[in-house]
Amino acid sequence: MRTRFAPSPTGPLHLGHAYSALLAQDMARAAGGAFLLRIEDIDSTRSRPAWEAQIYDDLRWLGLDWPEPVLRQSDRRAAYGAALDDLWRRELIYPCHCTRRDIAAAASAPQEGAAPAMGPDGLIYPGTCRDLLPPGYGAGPRPDGVALRLHMAPALDLAGDGLGFCDTGAGPSGQTGRIALSRARLLAEVGDVVLSRRDFPGSYHLSVVLDDAAQQISHVVRGRDLFEATAIHVVLQHLLGLPQPVWHHHALIRDAGGKRLAKRDDARAIASFRAEGATPRDIRAMVGL
Ligand code: GLU
Repeated sequence: MRTRFAPSPTGPLHLGHAYSALLAQDMARAAGGAFLLRIEDIDSTRSRPAWEAQIYDDLRWLGLDWPEPVLRQSDRRAAYGAALDDLWRRELIYPCHCTRRDIAAAASAPQEGAAPAMGPDGLIYPGTCRDLLPPGYGAGPRPDGVALRLHMAPALDLAGDGLGFCDTGAGPSGQTGRIALSRARLLAEVGDVVLSRRDFPGSYHLSVVLDDAAQQISHVVRGRDLFEATAIHVVLQHLLGLPQPVWHHHALIRDAGGKRLAKRDDARAIASFRAEGATPRDIRAMVGL
């Protein structure tokens, strides 16, 4: 068993992160496996070296250890670029020039008044740029400096029937075991997600599947908030010929009022508990481990 914790250095780690990281390490240890760390820092506008340093410090204090060197996504441009080239040649990605505002306007246009559909990455892409290029465009060079979106419909045609994954935790429905994916739901509720950002050759979805494969992760332990994203990751693993891990979507740690913890809830930051004199054992008890 190989598990991982993959934080983004965009804020302090809070109790929810501690739970995820400790659970991933406990599961690997119990099985005599390995626990790995990965820094998901492709968002250069929000990632900070100081947050990364704090992450290492908090995780060591919690009693976690991991093999060095740590994989950092900002060092993985070449791997992401190669996968994008492959998808581009197969015409499974296309350039998109829409701004958030364009997408909001197009998404709400047909059903005036009705709330536009939301997917795991926000509004479902209405398809404005989808068919602007003539067939055969993949023979040309992959453009840089523009967002590239997954052509979900042909991607699903390639994937065929029987797409699904195994969850040993529990998704929002509490369902464990084999979870089947529906083509109709992927088209209507996920759509053409971004696989390459304007400012970076990759996106969360692309980099996470390539990195899990590169790190030979057998069990992806992460919160239920990412359950919807897993469907996208399954499709990408299929398209890119990557091995499929098992997922363990765990419950989310909530505050006393039942609200999910967010990065900005500094009061719940591990660093705040440390400053108040809590021990790592206290943190384990607080998250129910
Ligand atoms: N980097 C993501 C986050 O901090 C987690 C990615 C994952 O576990 O797949 O929310």
